[in-house]
Amino acid sequence: MLLDRNLHIRAIDTYIDPGVPRERAIITHGHADHARSGHGAVLATPDTIAIMKVRYGEDCAGRFQALDFGVPLAIDDVTITLYPAGHILGSAQVLVEHKGQRVVVTGDYKRLADRTAQQYELVECDLLVTEATFGLPVFQHPHPRTEIARLLKSVADQPERSHLVGCYALGKAQRVIALLRDAGWNKPIYLHGAMIRLCELYEDLGVALGDLRPATGAVKAEMAGQIVIAPPSAIRDRWSRRFPDPVTCQASGWMSVKQRARQALVELPLVISDHCDWGELGQTIQETGAETVWVTHGREDALVYWCKTQGLAAEPLNIQGFEDDGGEGAEE
Ligand SMILES: [Zn+2]
Ligand SMILES: [Zn+2]
Repeated sequence: MLLDRNLHIRAIDTYIDPGVPRERAIITHGHADHARSGHGAVLATPDTIAIMKVRYGEDCAGRFQALDFGVPLAIDDVTITLYPAGHILGSAQVLVEHKGQRVVVTGDYKRLADRTAQQYELVECDLLVTEATFGLPVFQHPHPRTEIARLLKSVADQPERSHLVGCYALGKAQRVIALLRDAGWNKPIYLHGAMIRLCELYEDLGVALGDLRPATGAVKAEMAGQIVIAPPSAIRDRWSRRFPDPVTCQASGWMSVKQRARQALVELPLVISDHCDWGELGQTIQETGAETVWVTHGREDALVYWCKTQGLAAEPLNIQGFEDDGGEGAEE
């Protein structure tokens, strides 16, 4: 096999998103369950490299090689090409080609348009390694516009309160801000300190986010009717007491699970996902034309079963250390 079940490309001794430091790694995107520090050499998109340097430091890998989307890179007799995954800025699917065989590792992906990430592109292949974060039929994500409309209605209905929106700092925060801007929210958006560097980086990389201000130091009385973006943990701790009668909100694909929203003490859950839902996973598997599917990174079993009903060879990959889109402390 060109690729083994640890996402190791044997012919060039290179791992995709390895969970431990490796001599050579291809990194699909900047979330911590995919991008770790300490690799010898990292191959990734320019945006992913910029994100890794901001999060982990300039010297978080021995060396970096940037590869733009759609540009084939030949290494010995293997060719690597990165294609947009639509998940967060810079996020890539990895196409590995060898003697006519095509393998695609999706990383995390979503297909819905999102101006804070390069638009997902379908890549045909023989073997598809797909994530399955929301790999159960119960997951059918609503359109994010309707979720943002619910947030803005709540703001309009309760002008005496501030709205604190819990978002993971990389990807979700910038997407929620962009969705608010595109829905016409032109007032300043206030940021918890943990959000500032990555929002600045997105702006530097060409994603316009409008008037952003630090929430720390804001005058309490002036925060009525305002929207604040903060890490999910901050909206529940004493940090939130600086705002008038805050409405706790959280943006995550997991907010469709009412028990999770209740446990997180979220008054206004917003179902905004940066992953495919069940229907999109099945659609993608069919459209790639893959005859073999490896399912990783989430609810593998239901998707493996579905693939088999479609006449495809499928199996779960049990790669350790993946939990995504909003477990406490996990990535979104
Ligand atoms: Zn991710
Ligand atoms: Zn992930």
